[in-house]
Amino acid sequence: MEDGKKRVLVIEDEVSISDIIRFNLTKEGYDVVTAYDGRDGLEKALSQSPDLILLDIMLPYMDGFEVCRRVREKSSVPIIMLTAKEEEVDKVLGLELGADDYITKPFGMRELVARIKSNLRRTDMIFPAGSEKADEIRSFGSLELDLGRYEVRKNGVALDLTLREFELLKYLAEREGRVFSREQLLTEVWGYEYFGDIRTVDVTVRRLREKLEDDSSDPKYILTKRGIGYYFQRPAEN
Ligand code: CA
Repeated sequence: MEDGKKRVLVIEDEVSISDIIRFNLTKEGYDVVTAYDGRDGLEKALSQSPDLILLDIMLPYMDGFEVCRRVREKSSVPIIMLTAKEEEVDKVLGLELGADDYITKPFGMRELVARIKSNLRRTDMIFPAGSEKADEIRSFGSLELDLGRYEVRKNGVALDLTLREFELLKYLAEREGRVFSREQLLTEVWGYEYFGDIRTVDVTVRRLREKLEDDSSDPKYILTKRGIGYYFQRPAEN
């Protein structure tokens, strides 16, 4: 990181895939660290301070789901899961893993690089280098978005949000009352137009509600506009 390069940790047991990813990311100017099994991957995720992790699912010793869960206990580093099968996609989206994104195999290197840039760009927006706006706090009734610490507090209590959840909440809250379609949110918050799956938006909204709302089945902040999409509204104060 001293030389300004972003470090990407690639946890993938298929050497041919790992090699081609390493080759291409190195060419793109990333510092690439590799691990070939889940245990080593987890160890490097916690010791090498990667800026982003590419995480395969079927891995020796510890699978990608478990690695993802364990990394998330300690770190909010962006994680892109590499999935091979439709069942894995469903699991990535359905489980409360805390992954930020996924990409299905086989994928092209251009798509992978675009996805990595999109996920890194978000971290840069939240932690711009030498940022002077780091102490900016925005209040929405009982909610506080602390942009510097990338923290959301509800009645003064910090909520444990992932980067993506934070970004989605920030996007909607700053445009209070405006309704956005899933496609719009995917483009605006996830930052790419063609690769994403709109289910990703629904899953992220669901996770966010579970953390944010008193009763996630009766949300007061992130509301659904039936047939259209989602919007933010601060609840009436009692
Ligand atoms: Ca594998």
